[in-house]
Amino acid sequence: MADGKHLVFLGPPNSGKGTQAARLAEHLGIPAISTGEMLRAAVAAGNELGKTVDAVMKSGELVNDELMAEVVRERLAQDDASNGFILDGYPRTGSQADTLDEILQGIGASVDRVLLVEAPEDVLVERALGRGRADDSEEVVRERLRVYAEKTAPLIARYDGQGDVLARIDGHQGIDAVHQAILAAVES
Ligand code: AMP
Repeated sequence: MADGKHLVFLGPPNSGKGTQAARLAEHLGIPAISTGEMLRAAVAAGNELGKTVDAVMKSGELVNDELMAEVVRERLAQDDASNGFILDGYPRTGSQADTLDEILQGIGASVDRVLLVEAPEDVLVERALGRGRADDSEEVVRERLRVYAEKTAPLIARYDGQGDVLARIDGHQGIDAVHQAILAAVES
């Protein structure tokens, strides 16, 4: 039986969930695993995975579920994830949520908390464009938001239907205030 915490960050791009996942990871002493970061590292390394996902990532679309399942299975099997983990950016589809449930079932665990970090859309767009990442044209920013609404937002209802798993966090506050809200949700 796995006794560490298994946490998931859910929320639209630029909600601040990556920053918060990293901070929570430091606090809890378990790894924050960002699939977006893993994929960006693969692109930077120019390896097979990176070559496969490069164009899809630049378009704002999602990498296919089968490939993501492989990436995540391999990552979660590593030693540092054996006492719990925080996922940032996975799952993003119903199929990915099924895969995660399967992986957790295999170690006698389940998703303990889903931290849904939200902010108004105009704030998300402003943050994205302000940050000036090379692949973030306004068109791609809008596409990422559309893909989130279509493919990922339905996960909110799924987790909302699982007892008290889902915690809604107001991401439109200072970083410290968001962190405190997350700690309260994780420790409750
Ligand atoms: P992120 O940094 O989480 O916003 O991810 C950046 C990009 O990587 C996304 O726009 C997707 O193209 C891809 N990506 C990251 N995580 C996933 C995932 N779980 N499923 C599919 N694509 C993903």
